[in-house]
Amino acid sequence: MNRRPPLRAKLTVIPPHRLIVFLDYDGTLTPIVQRPEEARLTASVRGTLSQLAHSVPVVIVSGRALDDLRRRVGVPGIRYVAHHGLLYKEPGSAMRWLGQRPLRREVREWTRALERAAEGIAGALVEDKGATVALHDRLVRPADRPRLRRLALRALAPWLAKGKVAVMSGKRVLEARPVGAWNKGTAVARLLRQPWARGRVPVYFGDDRTDFDAFRAVQDLGLAVRVGGRRGIAGEDAWVSGPNRLASLLCWLTARVSRFERDVL
Ligand SMILES: [Mg+2]
Repeated sequence: MNRRPPLRAKLTVIPPHRLIVFLDYDGTLTPIVQRPEEARLTASVRGTLSQLAHSVPVVIVSGRALDDLRRRVGVPGIRYVAHHGLLYKEPGSAMRWLGQRPLRREVREWTRALERAAEGIAGALVEDKGATVALHDRLVRPADRPRLRRLALRALAPWLAKGKVAVMSGKRVLEARPVGAWNKGTAVARLLRQPWARGRVPVYFGDDRTDFDAFRAVQDLGLAVRVGGRRGIAGEDAWVSGPNRLASLLCWLTARVSRFERDVL
């Protein structure tokens, strides 16, 4: 009888050398924290990613800005998708826009508008990420959050009316981003068509609703794995309880890939 946890059994079916691993960052590789700057990768997860990236393509897919993400992950050989699918960077190449490149002047205007909206609401945090702006409300009193959201939408109304900005909600964050039909899913689908990814089996790990687009992109090709949250509502193929469990799963997967390389290739 197979006593492996179901997810490991599913991963065991994939030939290790044909894997391509996509991972969200916040809430997936690191636990959700009060302030975004506190989300740090542990040395052990960094070591695992480094070893895994030696053998198969590893892509971090995040809403964070590219430089921020690269600084936090800091593993050679890793590929990055930043700003929820807007920007891509692979080792040794210049970054590439996968969607409409935003005007810096406009992003600064959205930032100022959101800062004005957040004035006087304790705990509201506006983060100018260069190409997008995040308004975090994790530290805001729950009673004040609906008002903050209303004020933020009102502040962005001039750009919303002109179809110049799109608003996206994530875990305790509202994001202002350029309009366009791009997201984590379109980015993943596009990368899977690249020569280095073609024919590989994608496994995508993510925790938040922005990851669900990517879940759809890997459907029928590989595995979508939800990290934490309520199980069975995001169209995922499998579920792990949180970043700690994911860390041990990645460790197991990396050992499997390395063993296969040693024994077979
Ligand atoms: Mg996340």
